[in-house]
Amino acid sequence: MRAYDLIRKKRDGGSLSADEISWIIGGHLKGDVPDYQMSAFLVTVCINGMDDAETVALTRAMLESGTTLDLSEISGTKVDKHSTGGVGDKTSIILAPLMAAMGLKIPMISGRGLGHTGGTLDKLESIPGLRTDIGTDEFKQNVKKIGFSIMGQTDEIAPADRKLYALRDVTATVESIPLIAASIMSKKLAEGTEGLVLDVKCGSGAFMKTEEKAKELAQVMVKIGDSMGVRTVAVVTEMSEPLGRAVGNSLEVKECLNALKGNWAADLKEVTMTLGAWMLTMSDSLIEETSLQFLDPRAKKHYIDEALDFIEKGDAFKKFTEFVDAQYGDAETLFKPAMLPSAKETKHILAKGDGYLRTLDAEAVGRAAVLLGAGRERMGDEIDPAAGIVLTKKTGDEVKAGEPLAMFHYGDMASLAEAEDAFYSGVEIGPKEPVRKKLMRDVVMPPKK
Ligand code: URA
Repeated sequence: MRAYDLIRKKRDGGSLSADEISWIIGGHLKGDVPDYQMSAFLVTVCINGMDDAETVALTRAMLESGTTLDLSEISGTKVDKHSTGGVGDKTSIILAPLMAAMGLKIPMISGRGLGHTGGTLDKLESIPGLRTDIGTDEFKQNVKKIGFSIMGQTDEIAPADRKLYALRDVTATVESIPLIAASIMSKKLAEGTEGLVLDVKCGSGAFMKTEEKAKELAQVMVKIGDSMGVRTVAVVTEMSEPLGRAVGNSLEVKECLNALKGNWAADLKEVTMTLGAWMLTMSDSLIEETSLQFLDPRAKKHYIDEALDFIEKGDAFKKFTEFVDAQYGDAETLFKPAMLPSAKETKHILAKGDGYLRTLDAEAVGRAAVLLGAGRERMGDEIDPAAGIVLTKKTGDEVKAGEPLAMFHYGDMASLAEAEDAFYSGVEIGPKEPVRKKLMRDVVMPPKK
């Protein structure tokens, strides 16, 4: 085979076979297919798309470029949750300990923040000492012993994706549904999980700006999971405003600690608990060996009440402390959040008019947080773990001119004036109360067997 022929076939609208896809992915990883040919291939995929069979083959080729964890010796149902990324999206840090406290096993491989979106690894690493580069043996041990572990992609997990992602990042080929779906799913399928709940975000703060596109991505990912033997469901959720009140790493950890004690913003609670209810029903369907049923409101309430009980009893918080301790973090900081990194400087960002806060655009707030030092433009850039934004007002709140909308937290890495401009570009205050957007937009179920 020649990369040239495969690029031409894809360029001309053809479909590639599984062997052809496996050949080009494997060739790129080995260095036989150079980056310039792979870049051309990625652009043709970006423009012409891939059908379902090609997308599944691409996922399989990336998954099989590395190892899949074998968790069969660990008892209990293994169910993970993954979000396609957003601003202030911290549900994994609450759900992993909560679900583990309820008896599920959560093997979670997570990512770092890039651009205006945050990443679970960066958030966790703001806890002094905490390590997410623990390797697969320790990861498995922690899942077995504690009930969950969170780590980054290792060299053994989907190495083809790692190499490809670096190329996509510099060739404007990140925003392609088959490429995103295969990239995320190859890593998730390598975890050895039996069930997967996907949170596919839509709106300005998400990869997918519209509900339609998010649903398309959700459908592709559910099909991939299903054809590769992992029970997968996707929930499409709103990401046009940051989730919860904190944006930025240690600030988000502090918000999670409050949530694990039952103290949380309404939107964060609704999204987290809905995803938790899906994880619990997924686990029950695996135990009972029945197909996954749509979660009706009664069943959802039952699971949520049960989960809230584990928060109230303190079990979820305790589980989180066990995890932090096992992954070399200073668990004492969880009891004294003032010991977590805190910014040198803070500044109130004030409303410029009276009325209702009609828009608080997630992408604008995310960009402002990056400018304060909380995120990175390029993979490998340094971040300030203490930097970020705490929202005082959320969409729909009444505001008066001069009242604080948010508090900026920052240090030496901040571009303060630019951050303020970015933040205000996402704020709209007006006399009319905005119509509240539905947070839970859609559910994509696996096909019935
Ligand atoms: N996250 C990933 O891991 N891959 C993508 O392509 C997009 C988001």
